[in-house]
Amino acid sequence: MAGALLFSSHLDDPVAWSAALAALMPELDIRVSPELGDPAEIETALVWRPPAGEMAALPNLKLIINLGAGVDPLLADPTIPPHIPVARLGDQFMAQMMTQFVTFAVLRHHRDIAMYERQHRAGEWRYELPIPSYERRVGIMGLGLLGGTAARTLAGLGFSVRGWARSPHAIDGVECFHGAAGFGDFLAKTDILVVLLPLTKDTRHIVGRDALYRLPRGARLINCGRGGTVDEDALLTALNDGQISEATLDVFESEPLPKDHPFWGMENVLCLPHTASIAIPEIAAKDVVENIRRVRAGEALLNIVDRAKGY
Ligand code: NDP
Repeated sequence: MAGALLFSSHLDDPVAWSAALAALMPELDIRVSPELGDPAEIETALVWRPPAGEMAALPNLKLIINLGAGVDPLLADPTIPPHIPVARLGDQFMAQMMTQFVTFAVLRHHRDIAMYERQHRAGEWRYELPIPSYERRVGIMGLGLLGGTAARTLAGLGFSVRGWARSPHAIDGVECFHGAAGFGDFLAKTDILVVLLPLTKDTRHIVGRDALYRLPRGARLINCGRGGTVDEDALLTALNDGQISEATLDVFESEPLPKDHPFWGMENVLCLPHTASIAIPEIAAKDVVENIRRVRAGEALLNIVDRAKGY
């Protein structure tokens, strides 16, 4: 029977996803890689890093849906057929979870919680006058689904929020900058830099030595987009010489972060195992099913990736 969905991921749970999809579309024929049956029957593929060549072997494939927001690993696979549309997951719950993470990390830096944790371990009572949130300038790189939602929430918490993206944006309570022309001004008044960019040919190492040293001295860095957007060697130098005073890193150039990586031993760095936000099958399945319906009806698809831009 034509119209089957192929689930292919070594990371995501096929049982949870099958149940979530079946609850919304009971008639959907779901195949779990590598048991795909007749390749000609696969219409949609729901994937995270599928094996090289798997997508190219599906003659009637109409849509590839990436099991996550970041499509960099999928687009880096040269065997993905260039004519098949690629969609990504991205819903309000994923944005909310990321915003909660960003808010935690910003508040941790804003209220010097790492310093108080060190004082606690030393049994030390020492009071530092907190500064009000309107004096703390938070700069968000990337104003898409995740960065835009985080920016609005932080502005609502009273921070002085600025954002930077490729194209112009208008967000209430957020000073927006864009493109190469706006990059320097954006960085110059950012005390806490939040990087929420996709990894593309244009964003690789965009936070390198030059960007790091345009920030005010002692700035903090939070990266929860993709590791490759930050030049880790430049960041290490900046952390060691005080240009960057603290960092919260959820993503790395190489994951898992190698055991001998210097970040692990640094007092002023908090490393997390790429855990800021995830897609919840029960919620994300709604957009998957809607996209299957739209493919069949020939309607415009949701969350389509611009393969030339890389996001
Ligand atoms: P979107 O595609 O919605 O937004 C991307 C944003 O980045 C846009 O504002 C875009 O600008 C901007 N951007 C892209 N390229 C450039 C560039 N060259 N210069 C300036 N700005 C640029 O993505 P999401 O917000 O949904 O997600 C962002 C990333 O977060 C994902 O790609 C993924 O890698 C990562 N992620 C990490 C997770 C984690 O757990 N750590 C979980 C989920 C996602 P414009 O608006 O002008 O197009």
